Amino acid sequence: MLTSIILDMIANISILSTASYIFIKLIPNNKNIALNKKEKILLVGVAGVTSFLLMLFSIDLPNKALLDLRHIILILLIYYFGEKSVFPVVVLMVFFRFLMGVNPASIRSAMMYILLGLFLPIVYKSLIKKMNNKYRVLLILNAICVSTIVLNLHFLYQDLLLNSLVYIGLLVLSSLVIIMVTAFIEDLLTSRILYLNEQEHARMDFLTGLYNMREFKNKWQMVQLEKKIATTALMMIDIDYFKWINDNYGHSNGNFVLRQIATILKIEAIDNEMIYRVGGEEFCLILNDLSYSDQQEIAEKIRKSVEKKLFLLENGDSIQLTVSIGLAASTQTKDMKKLFRLADRCLYLAKDQGRNKVICKQMETE
Ligand code: GH3
Ligand code: MG
Ligand code: MG
Repeated sequence: MLTSIILDMIANISILSTASYIFIKLIPNNKNIALNKKEKILLVGVAGVTSFLLMLFSIDLPNKALLDLRHIILILLIYYFGEKSVFPVVVLMVFFRFLMGVNPASIRSAMMYILLGLFLPIVYKSLIKKMNNKYRVLLILNAICVSTIVLNLHFLYQDLLLNSLVYIGLLVLSSLVIIMVTAFIEDLLTSRILYLNEQEHARMDFLTGLYNMREFKNKWQMVQLEKKIATTALMMIDIDYFKWINDNYGHSNGNFVLRQIATILKIEAIDNEMIYRVGGEEFCLILNDLSYSDQQEIAEKIRKSVEKKLFLLENGDSIQLTVSIGLAASTQTKDMKKLFRLADRCLYLAKDQGRNKVICKQMETE
């Protein structure tokens, strides 16, 4: 008897741990992001099936009552996915409970889970406002569930000793399991956030906060393959006589100027995602689905903004500088390699014609 109880509880803990691992995959990175329809269905399905598996490994009590850790599913759902996720899972839980047989115990259990599904979210909402320790909130929710489960048992058989033993045993065990599963989920969520941050850093240029050459190549491939993007253009921007700035005011002032150039590009370009620092003092913009005249206008605006701006130096002085711009536009095919070569050629021409210039060419007229 005792061995079977221990084995059932071990099975319950393993099932909950496995379900938590699937939950982690579904928990959004940001609590304000809602799950899409597919994810919601998957979540309800996984939670429902988990409750069924927990029931299969439940401890059988007299009069067909079952004792297991199903309520933990509800608590985890409320905490990680919000109150709305709970009720559909409760409906599934009730359905699966009736699959095990319709009898007074299963009817009572169904009513109890419906009650918990209705009231736990309300209790959670008021608790989370007052307490900032999540474990305390989860443990209180657990105590409420365990009290309800044991109260329900009390209606089936008025054995005070048995009920007290069940209450203590279930409260201690499920509290430990909740702490363990939550710690497991939190640990994996932290690792995921660290991984995503690292991934983001690998795409970024630290000095300017723009995307780097690696990301430029990724985007370039995406633009080439994406059928929804009909036309594109590459704009290549190079600071004029930048070496002179470094030589006269120092490397650190050079960096300061690069950051100010990046800010101008962020203001003038239409899409911040599409600005890349591809070399020391060279920047690239990808302009999708714009008319040739719009593309030229953006390039001219950038040139003029740089020309007009007073760039601050670290000692409070300011200097002026200019950029040369090469713009290559595609109209029919999006051959990015050819486009890059053409933009580079345009940039060379702009430098050759005295700098502070925009030279534009369209691919097909080449
Ligand atoms: P041009 O008008 O022909 O473009 O002249 P330029 O001096 O800008 O061109 P050049 O390619 O000769 O010099 C680029 C300089 O940019 C050389 C290098 O010292 C500087 N540079 C490259 N990366 C960085 C950086 O991250 N920070 C700073 N401060 N300078 C950099
Ligand atoms: Mg250069
Ligand atoms: Mg230069």
